[in-house]
Amino acid sequence: MRRVVGRHAGWGNTPSAPSRLVTPEPEDALDEALREFPLGLRGLGRSYGDAACGPVLLDTTALRGPFELDQDRGLLRVGAGRSLGEITALCLPWGWAPAVLPGTRHVTVGGAIAADVHGKNHHVAGAFCAHVVRLRARVADGRVLECGRVERPDLFQALCGGMGLCGVVLEATLKLEARQGSGFLRSTLACASLDQALDRLRSSSASHTVAWVDAASPGRALGRCLVHEGDPQPDPGPLEAARDAWIALPFTLPMNGVRPPIMRAFNEAVWQQGRRSKPGVQVHGDFFWPLDAVAHWNRLYGKQGFLQFQCLLPDELLERQGVAPFVELLRHFMGAGGGSLAVMKTMGPRDEATAPIAFPGKGATLALDIPATPQARELVCKANAMVAHWGGRIYLAKDALLDAPTFARMTPGLEAWRALRRSWDPQGMWRSDLSTRLEL
Ligand SMILES: Cc1cc2nc3c(=O)[nH]c(=O)nc-3n(C[C@H](O)[C@H](O)[C@H](O)COP(=O)(O)OP(=O)(O)OC[C@H]3O[C@@H](n4cnc5c(N)ncnc54)[C@H](O)[C@@H]3O)c2cc1C
Repeated sequence: MRRVVGRHAGWGNTPSAPSRLVTPEPEDALDEALREFPLGLRGLGRSYGDAACGPVLLDTTALRGPFELDQDRGLLRVGAGRSLGEITALCLPWGWAPAVLPGTRHVTVGGAIAADVHGKNHHVAGAFCAHVVRLRARVADGRVLECGRVERPDLFQALCGGMGLCGVVLEATLKLEARQGSGFLRSTLACASLDQALDRLRSSSASHTVAWVDAASPGRALGRCLVHEGDPQPDPGPLEAARDAWIALPFTLPMNGVRPPIMRAFNEAVWQQGRRSKPGVQVHGDFFWPLDAVAHWNRLYGKQGFLQFQCLLPDELLERQGVAPFVELLRHFMGAGGGSLAVMKTMGPRDEATAPIAFPGKGATLALDIPATPQARELVCKANAMVAHWGGRIYLAKDALLDAPTFARMTPGLEAWRALRRSWDPQGMWRSDLSTRLEL
């Protein structure tokens, strides 16, 4: 068993109190590790806020478990501590890949299930848990249980999108997607406004779509978008997963390096390059994980760290008001110089088999990063209230600032969730800073 006391912050790197990370090594030391409770579960720490933070944390990356690929059916039985990057690299040569991938490969299977992560294909494929066939989990009373959509559906629901608050996922059986090659046919369309971009996202026939949004330039340039569309290469081709990061940021900058004039210049370069780009084939990793090209890019924001704001606005609102609420949010964040790395994406229906607090659902999502200044914190809190007023929701895997009453306003299923949580964790064994803050 390894115990490390240190600062275990979220990906946003905002200052956090020291905490103890307990690594169950060898894996059968899990029971011993679980004697210390309440405790939070932590995978690769890629959630931005405090979902994987707390005074005592269990390091779930140690849960390496099995790795068994049924090559005929594309079923993979895998330990929850393995990363999606590792799985992709091992399965692609056999013509299979995870059906849903988020924007970084450094995410564990357990973390992907707990946040029910979504990818660029949510509008056609749903989120990660839609492709989970079966789970094996250690629950609070010490039992190790199997569950799925038919067997113990309530446990399956508590684990899928339940933010690690109803048990430790030990292993999962995933239904993978067949692949002829690892390339993606990709094209980019420049749209002068959010309105045009949302129309394009909605009418696109591509399986993978996302819009890069300029959330930092003033005037007419605010909200211009590059809509990226992609489909897996239909013909047989090389099956390679991802290149290693090109560079790594060796240390956290003493000050924020992502300032408004830099963001504006960067966005202008992205826009000019994007609007001239020609359709072409991109290798798997470059298509899904462009941000992974720079390891530790979060250190660019300096010691204060940064916040990510990600909301989902329902289709009914967007049908009534068009993109006006998104435009209002972009203007709102210009109060702190605007956001960096902003993206918009349409999403498909909610998966009723997942936790009532799970994020994905029908509508469109907007995400942007913003240096964690006191002013930005205030703007994010106000934006959270705006989203609650509009009937939208905030992605807990990204959030650091929601308060319990605002979260309750945006989560109609909260009481059902609390009942589910009580049934699987009556004594409050699992606890993260996020669950304390939001009274989950
Ligand atoms: C660059 C970048 C891009 C991203 N892009 C996307 C995206 O496109 N779509 C998207 O949906 N998300 C995206 N994310 C967010 C990320 O996918 C999620 O936060 C994911 O949950 C992180 O997984 P992790 O292994 O790092 O888990 P952590 O961040 O360590 O933990 C996340 C949650 O999982 C729980 N957990 C961890 N292991 C287990 C386990 N074994 N059993 C039960 N619960 C567990 C934790 O308690 C916590 O609540 C992105 C993050 C980054 C940094």
